[in-house]
Amino acid sequence: MEAAPTGQRSSHQSVEKGRSRHKIPRDVETDIAYLYEVLPQLSRIFRIIDKIGEGTFSTVYLAEAQMTDGSRRMFALKHLIPTSHPVRIAAELQCLTVAGGTENVMGVTYCFRKEHHVVIVMPYMEHQTFVDIVGSLSFEDVKHYIFHLLKALRHIHKFGIIHRDIKPTNFLFNQQRREYTLVDFGLAQGTPDTQIELLKELLGVDKAPRSVFGEKNINGTNSHKPGTDKVEGLLLKTKREEVIPRKIVSSKHRSVPVRAPLNQKPKPPAVSPMLTCNCFMTDRVCNICLSRKQQVAPRAGTPGFRAPEVLTKCPNQGTAIDMWSAGVILLSLLSGRYPFFKASDDLIALTQIMTIRGSRETKEAAKTFGKSIVCSRDLPRLDLRILCETLRGLRSWDDASLPAEFQASRNPAEVKQDAGSPAKKRMSSGSLRSIAELQEMGWDKAPDDVYDLLDKLLDLNPVTRITASKALQHPLFKDMTT
Ligand code: ADP
Ligand code: MG
Ligand code: ZN
Repeated sequence: MEAAPTGQRSSHQSVEKGRSRHKIPRDVETDIAYLYEVLPQLSRIFRIIDKIGEGTFSTVYLAEAQMTDGSRRMFALKHLIPTSHPVRIAAELQCLTVAGGTENVMGVTYCFRKEHHVVIVMPYMEHQTFVDIVGSLSFEDVKHYIFHLLKALRHIHKFGIIHRDIKPTNFLFNQQRREYTLVDFGLAQGTPDTQIELLKELLGVDKAPRSVFGEKNINGTNSHKPGTDKVEGLLLKTKREEVIPRKIVSSKHRSVPVRAPLNQKPKPPAVSPMLTCNCFMTDRVCNICLSRKQQVAPRAGTPGFRAPEVLTKCPNQGTAIDMWSAGVILLSLLSGRYPFFKASDDLIALTQIMTIRGSRETKEAAKTFGKSIVCSRDLPRLDLRILCETLRGLRSWDDASLPAEFQASRNPAEVKQDAGSPAKKRMSSGSLRSIAELQEMGWDKAPDDVYDLLDKLLDLNPVTRITASKALQHPLFKDMTT
């Protein structure tokens, strides 16, 4: 799980790079010492070498262990934040143990616990940072990448696991070895028929802290100001079933006013023994939620990868949400642009989706899952091939007639070159590769099939959106064995 909205996570650098270039920084040494201290049993087995990932909910370390046969092996140690809910931790572990270790899904070697400190031990997979490689991948590389991601998704979806945080930092990729591994079940949820028992239990646990309306306000980043946004996306709830019963509001709870849903009065509170929060569906944030500050907002994943039904808070979310995220990854791979949607909140993310998939189409899809979106401007649906090829530099910007939003993302160097010689004009905005290079990488011959798959992954309607097993049967992969 990651806290992308606040962007706190330091992006993972290649460990090899990090170690050879500079010494391990002091604060990393301190963190390693702390880990040995809270989990002393680790020191008997591991030599912790470096920190390789840090998010709001975990810190991941690289460690070496001597095996019984005398060989040395590398492991990733994921130290979960001590305040994680025990069922949450156990569910993450169960996903890894039941579904992991095969089909491009990370497995688990061991788990350590002392009091509230938990470390999940996994085989270490050396990998590249997506942003470093996205521009250098050939069309064939991209085809393999998405194929292997779909394989991992088919596998976990078979178990009734919804990952809910599909994005490149959770799908590790080793370019040289063509290895791929899905990690991070820290946000996973179960389908109603899930085979992961603890995901069933989680349904009761997770609902409590996920404050629907408090989310942005708790963060202090209420960035949707009507009149300043290009599109005013107002989400109006139309379904009553979404109201989750809460405990009676206690007068002891000091409240702070937050933006209330526009057409909604606070519902009369009902009693639910499972839940301890007092403010859900009201226009207040209770002390309990305020003290959850760190956990509430980021638990929901990363706006830029979230499906329209997630962004509009549709209550029935299934495995289709992961397929949408896979579509956003494919969009990055085909356009060479990452992150593709840079959204700090859900409304901005929804607006960006409308810019590409069309506002009328988005509204229609939202209607099918009981949401209405109000949008002040009509945004046409874009042709995905033209969009990706223009961003990649295979097409001239002048021919594409992309909306102004995209003009802003043009590389300044490219804009300058436009004024110059026509030969230089068609350079990639992202990687500044020449047409010859792009041809060598197979980009001029990318078949329509890949854009057809992209279209089916980025289906605004979760009911018709392609599933992982269907996607693997797509004509794009006819020469590959699933
Ligand atoms: P978080 O919940 O904090 O996002 P993740 O499980 O996604 O935790 O791990 C964070 C980062 O640590 C990953 O993006 C990856 O770079 C690195 N990482 C996690 N597991 C492994 C592993 N088994 N091998 C190598 N690197 C890993
Ligand atoms: Mg992660
Ligand atoms: Zn609350």
